[in-house]
Amino acid sequence: MTTETAPAETRLFIGGAFVDADGGTTLDTINPATGEVLAQVAHASPDDVAAAVAAARSAQPAWAELPISDRARILRRTAELIESNAGRLAALESADAGKPITDCRAQIGGTAEWFDFFADVSAHLRSHVVPTFPNHLNYTLRQPIGVVATITPWNYPMPLYGIKLPAALAVGNAVVLKPAEQTPLTALALADLMREAGLPDGVLNVVPGLGETTGAALVEADIDMISFTGSTEVGRKIASRAGERLVKVTLELGGKSPSIVFADSDLDRAADGALFTFCVHQGQLCSAGTRLLVEESVREDFVGRLVERAEALRIGDPMAADTQLGAVMSDEQMVRIERYVASGIEQGANPLTGASRAEVAGLEGGLFYRPTIFEGVDTRMTIAQEEIFGPVLSVLPFTDDAQAVELANDVLYGLAAGIWTNDLRRAHRFAAAVDAGLVYVNTMNLLAPWSPYSGWKQSGLGVEGGIEQASSFTKLKTVWVNLGEDVPRL
Ligand code: ADP
Repeated sequence: MTTETAPAETRLFIGGAFVDADGGTTLDTINPATGEVLAQVAHASPDDVAAAVAAARSAQPAWAELPISDRARILRRTAELIESNAGRLAALESADAGKPITDCRAQIGGTAEWFDFFADVSAHLRSHVVPTFPNHLNYTLRQPIGVVATITPWNYPMPLYGIKLPAALAVGNAVVLKPAEQTPLTALALADLMREAGLPDGVLNVVPGLGETTGAALVEADIDMISFTGSTEVGRKIASRAGERLVKVTLELGGKSPSIVFADSDLDRAADGALFTFCVHQGQLCSAGTRLLVEESVREDFVGRLVERAEALRIGDPMAADTQLGAVMSDEQMVRIERYVASGIEQGANPLTGASRAEVAGLEGGLFYRPTIFEGVDTRMTIAQEEIFGPVLSVLPFTDDAQAVELANDVLYGLAAGIWTNDLRRAHRFAAAVDAGLVYVNTMNLLAPWSPYSGWKQSGLGVEGGIEQASSFTKLKTVWVNLGEDVPRL
């Protein structure tokens, strides 16, 4: 292990201090590019979770009462500290998650932008004066929810802390974060930076641990809202428990997004975009475009360009600056990818490239997989319907617009869709017709802190990003004021 990837902190962060887990239990976090143990991280018990929630509960009122500008200063200072520590954070994230260092560096910069954007968002959450009756003033207030539990997955650790924490904190909530068990290191490093930025003790608490123990305990704890990103299966479990308790919940879940390529598009640009969206972070992102819907008249040409690009990708050491494809997250994830690829072959699809592990010299213990492109796929096949979370693409040809829309919408998910065309009218017609919360025309997978998005169908509930997300971390209150003499009487 180089000193750069040695984590400064591996303990829980509760009430502004790093502490060992109750009973001293730890979990190993593995570097997926080498197979080696990167660190042993404290595993929060249900009692630790309760202590973190209690710390958040007692810190929240004073945090909410601070002037907006004081909260903003701390969040903006956090953004600066993320930037000034970007090299260290990127190295830690790359080692913990197996993703290329250049991607990590860009994502750390993106995380800082989310903190910057949300810093003073409270000042922009307008209340309304609502016209009602003569001599009555009726207005709305937006007040913090209280204690927000955030539960995040391993695929985009820092970006997801950026998506969830500043919006929740800026409007006066306290947060308990449970990062994924596979990638807890940058969450602890970020907590340390927020402490340095002046965040009062208890406003953010971090409790690494397993989903079924630590995560489940957090869902059952004295919290007011859950903001979850992860699998649809776990999201359903959490939402049903939140439903029973009537705790507010937002979910960002899985996806099976289409890239829809029309013959009239710029095929080289479309091929670059279609490659990016199914291969970035080894396909381990919920908005990955893993179904390629291509107009039959250009299918052969287009798929040829895509295969050529996929075979030219540099798979290798995530720490090397020119690596484009790093390691997949875990043995479990590798087995899942292999199982899906085998099912595609069994059900009659034809892999044009990939469909096997890749060897990287010097990293024999690492988990690398070749980008895989299947032709001869029917929309009913498992590989065309289920989220694989690996660099595996299904090609589905279409002959007209109506068939393209039908295929695009023929899945349980509705997260994102990419449309590649130079026909303006067609682009807007498709944007309206596609069942997805995020539609991209001649691009893919962009996000900005000020642009809201939301998963449709089995891809989620609620909104992330933008002033809309900040608003969703508040409770609405309506105030009626009688300015006259008449009161309701029996
Ligand atoms: P992925 O398939 O990306 O690992 P998961 O949905 O399994 O996604 O995990 C996302 C997050 O949810 C992780 O932090 C994980 O520990 C947590 N988690 C998993 N199961 C539960 C559960 N039953 N209750 C609460 N959190 C859970």
